[in-house]
Amino acid sequence: MKYKTLLFDVDDTILDFQDTEDQALKALFEAHGLEMTPERKQSYQTINHDLWQQFEQGKITRDQVINERFGLFFETQGIQVDSPAVELAYREFLNEGHKLLDNSDEILAELAQHFDLYVVTNGVSETQYRRLEDAKLKPYFRDIFVSEDTGYQKPMKEYFDYVFARIPNVKKQETVIIGDSLTSDILGGQLAGIDTIWFNPKKKNSGEIQPTVEIERLQQLLPLLQH
Ligand SMILES: [Mg+2]
Repeated sequence: MKYKTLLFDVDDTILDFQDTEDQALKALFEAHGLEMTPERKQSYQTINHDLWQQFEQGKITRDQVINERFGLFFETQGIQVDSPAVELAYREFLNEGHKLLDNSDEILAELAQHFDLYVVTNGVSETQYRRLEDAKLKPYFRDIFVSEDTGYQKPMKEYFDYVFARIPNVKKQETVIIGDSLTSDILGGQLAGIDTIWFNPKKKNSGEIQPTVEIERLQQLLPLLQH
């Protein structure tokens, strides 16, 4: 087998972040007297996405993203809020969400018998640990690297330097990253000098960032990696 070490993204790779986010936003909107509608959800997601893109480009900090997003959103609804306080409430709701993506638990269980698995995720440490624990996925991983704990984030090379410094006897040519995001997982893997597997269930166009391999279903991983 070519690979020994597998680096896994979490959200929308092994956990269903869409479901987690939907449930949390619905609860949060309702707490402010707003019914969840497709328009409101879209409005929030546009604001949130724009802020995270600025973060990935190093223009703003993670704290700015999470402490400003709800203030900006509720402003579009004509509601003034204490944005950081709303963020805390949202995070409580997010902590509850840990729906598996497909049967990722069975796939990880199988992979963990053959490879060393690690988590590489951008996000809030407490939230990610809790969700992996509640989803019963934590035992499959030898270690978990959340961007908040590293001081960097995917796709920064410094983030991956931090990760590689903490994996015993790791070799880059035996390591591959598996994730759904071209701009954080695949670009990050490329900057780190490792192979990349793009999980692309919706068959999106990859554009300029070309992964080593592309898969549509997690079930493809085992036969692919055992070559
Ligand atoms: Mg992801």
